[in-house]
Amino acid sequence: MKIDHAGLHALMEITARPELVFVRGEGSWLQDHTGKRYFDFIQGWAVNCLGHGHPAILDALARQSRELINPSPAFYNQPSIELARRIVEASCFDRVFFANSGAEANEGAIKLARKWGQLHRHGAYKIITFDHAFHGRTLATMSASGKPGWDRKFAPQVEGFPKADLNDLDSVRALIDEQTVAVMLEPVQGEAGVIPATREFLRALRELTRERGLLLIVDEVQTGMARTGRLFAYQHAGIEPDIMTLGKGIGGGVPLAALCAREAVSCFEHGDQGGTYNGNPLMTAVGVAVFDVISTAQFLDDVHARSRQLKAGLNALSGKWGMHGERGVGLLRALIMDRDDGPALVEAARKRAPEGLLLNAPRPNLLRFMPALNVTADEVDTMLAWLDELLTQVRSHTK
Ligand SMILES: *Cc1c(COP(=O)(O)O)cnc(C)c1O
Repeated sequence: MKIDHAGLHALMEITARPELVFVRGEGSWLQDHTGKRYFDFIQGWAVNCLGHGHPAILDALARQSRELINPSPAFYNQPSIELARRIVEASCFDRVFFANSGAEANEGAIKLARKWGQLHRHGAYKIITFDHAFHGRTLATMSASGKPGWDRKFAPQVEGFPKADLNDLDSVRALIDEQTVAVMLEPVQGEAGVIPATREFLRALRELTRERGLLLIVDEVQTGMARTGRLFAYQHAGIEPDIMTLGKGIGGGVPLAALCAREAVSCFEHGDQGGTYNGNPLMTAVGVAVFDVISTAQFLDDVHARSRQLKAGLNALSGKWGMHGERGVGLLRALIMDRDDGPALVEAARKRAPEGLLLNAPRPNLLRFMPALNVTADEVDTMLAWLDELLTQVRSHTK
């Protein structure tokens, strides 16, 4: 297949993309327009939790598309009811609002916290977030994010997101004032380079927010839906947050996200929240199918086993190449390298022949691994072997 260059140029330029057009996906493999195959360890940025083209997802799409695609969000539909019940039963939350993207779910969490502040905290509206956090690309979620430089992009920002330092409770305490309504964080900062909030920090943060009458919001867009080996990452810390957002893995690749809250916090009044596609049965039917695959004890055990394998393999590579180890939780992991050859490795991996490898370097000295959660032991070994070869190749040029 030839690339349609005029069509390609009709797409708005938003990032540097390689001149490849992906046409097919199956499991951990993608195929481009020339027929070249790529081993996919990115999976749409932790989105395709069951890999490409999983039969449970294809069946749900086919079945639901024949039944009902969208009756309008003003009416109930069966798949959204089924998915909401599953999430509520598996978590500490009582109510779910479905959204179409992680940013939109977070935008909803911010609105819900502000609404709660109006009703119960004399109009308090500030939400303490964290340096290097990533919460999405809408104006409010960019303002909530702590990416360097984002405070000046598209200025003025949405006001009211003071930034604390992750794993530093005093930095949070110092920011709390009369106007504070909530603290919001990722249990593992993903875009920042896979930096886990410690169990102690999460527990202390829950304690502090409860003491001061503040809401605790966890953005589990990347960490939720079994990515960390538990259904939700907050469960590792044994805490119960007030609000949680889900995205990415919840739809296994289709646009689906969720805003979850405890009953006492679910204070939207009619007209406060909504959206044309929110909770549509086509996407929520996929959500139900994905949920039923990933929520079994066996599936979660397998995620743990692959996680241990990946961790051990990355540590071995780190030792061999004199790097600084690895970190992460479950199947969201990063290799911390001793030099900034992340971008060179990503490119060499993509260009690898005859089969390519798709990797991600969120920082120049860091590789992030977000395979499908049902990745096999052989596939993990293959990726590690290829990575070792690529390091040999890239480092023989740059020594
Ligand atoms: C990806 C991500 C988002 C944004 O989700 P979109 O679906 O891209 O809007 C928000 N928060 C976290 C932690 C993410 O990883």
